[in-house]
Amino acid sequence: MFDHPDYDAHEKVLMVEDAASGLKAIIAVHSTALGAAAGGCRLWAYDSGVAALGDALRLSRGMSYKNAMANLPMGGGKAVILGPVLPDRREAVLEAFGRAVDSLDGQYITAEDVGVSVADMKIVARTTGYVSGLDAAIGKSGGDPSPFTARGVRVGIEAAVKSRLGRSDLAGIRVAVQGLGHVGSYLCEELFNLGARLVVADINAERVSEMRDRFRAESVPVKDILLQAVDVVAPCALGGAISEDVVRQLQATIVAGAANNQLLTPQAGVILGERGILYAPDYVINAGGIIMVAGEISGHNDEAHIQAQVDAIGPRLADIFARAKSANVITNVVADSMARDKIAAAKARTKVT
Ligand code: NAD
Repeated sequence: MFDHPDYDAHEKVLMVEDAASGLKAIIAVHSTALGAAAGGCRLWAYDSGVAALGDALRLSRGMSYKNAMANLPMGGGKAVILGPVLPDRREAVLEAFGRAVDSLDGQYITAEDVGVSVADMKIVARTTGYVSGLDAAIGKSGGDPSPFTARGVRVGIEAAVKSRLGRSDLAGIRVAVQGLGHVGSYLCEELFNLGARLVVADINAERVSEMRDRFRAESVPVKDILLQAVDVVAPCALGGAISEDVVRQLQATIVAGAANNQLLTPQAGVILGERGILYAPDYVINAGGIIMVAGEISGHNDEAHIQAQVDAIGPRLADIFARAKSANVITNVVADSMARDKIAAAKARTKVT
C-alpha cells in the first residue's frame, strides 16, 4: 500500500473482511486534521482489490480537499465495499460494514455514494452511529443533497461568468448541461429562473423531454453536448468528461459543473489554461451537498444557514480565479495548493496544542 501511486500519507487505511457476511471493504481516512473524516461509501464491482484500494485512497484525499475548501470542520475519508453483493447478503454486509465504521470510534463518518442508497445507510445505522445522509427534514427533497449541490454550481457559474465575461447576471447566458439527473435537473431550474438559455443532453430521453417542457431547453445528441457554441459547459453526468480531445474542441469559455473528477487527465487542465478557458475546480463548485451533510452532522441544519454557506462558493471561486490569473497558474492547481495549505495549517495547530 505504501507504494501505491494514490497513497498520500493517509492517516489510516482499514481493510475489512467479514467471513460471516462476505463483506470485503476498505475504509481510507486521509486526514482528520480539520475534524472527523467525512465521505461516502461506494459499492462497486472492482476489477481487483488494488483498483478498490486506489479508489479509496484517491477519493478520500479528494474529500479532504473538498471539505477543507468548503471551510467545514471535517477531514476526508471514503469507504468502498467490494461488489457485487448478492441481494440476500446485502443486509448482513451493510451491518458488518457498520461495525467496521464503528470500530474507528468516530474517526470516519460514512454516508451514501455510488451504489449505496439512503435505505442502505439506515441499515448501516443499526450498527454504528457514525452515519450521515439520513435526515429527511433538511431541504425540499427529503434529505437529498442535490438541490444544495445545484445551488452551489449555479453560484459558481455566476462567479465564473463575472470573472470571464464581465457579466453580473445570467440573462441570455447560454449553458450546455450534460446529465440531467438529480443535480443536473435542479441546476436547469436554477439557471432557467435567472434567464439563462439551456442546451441539454442525457442518455435518458425522459429526462431530456422533461427539461425541454419545463425550461424551454434545446436538446442535442449526447455526443455533441460538450462541443456546443455556448458560454458555459456544465458537466453533471459521470467523471472524466473533459478529456484533452474535448478541451481542444470546446467552444465554450467556461467549464463549471457538478460532476466529480471532471478532468480526465491533469494535462486536460493544462490545455484548458492554454486555451484561456476558465475551469471551476470540481470539488470547490460541487461542495453544496457536503455542506448540507455537515449541517446534519453538526446539528446546524437550518436551511437558511446551509444556503448561506453554499452561496459562499461564489466568492471562494472568485478568489481562486483571481489568484490563478495573477500567478498565471491553472485554477485546479491553485485550489489543490490552497486545500493542502489549510490541512497543513490545521496539522501544525494540533501539534502546538
Ligand atoms: P445522477 O445519477 O442522478 O445523474 C446523472 C445523470 O447523467 C443521469 O440522468 C444519467 O442518465 C446521465 N448520464 C450518464 N452518462 C451520460 C452521458 N454520457 N451523457 C449525458 N448524460 C449522461 O447523479 P447526480 O447525483 O445528479 O450527480 C451528477 C454528478 O455530480 C456525479 O458525477 C456526482 O458524483 C456529482 N456530484 C453529485 C452530488 C450530489 O449532491 N448528488 C454532489 C457532488 C457531486
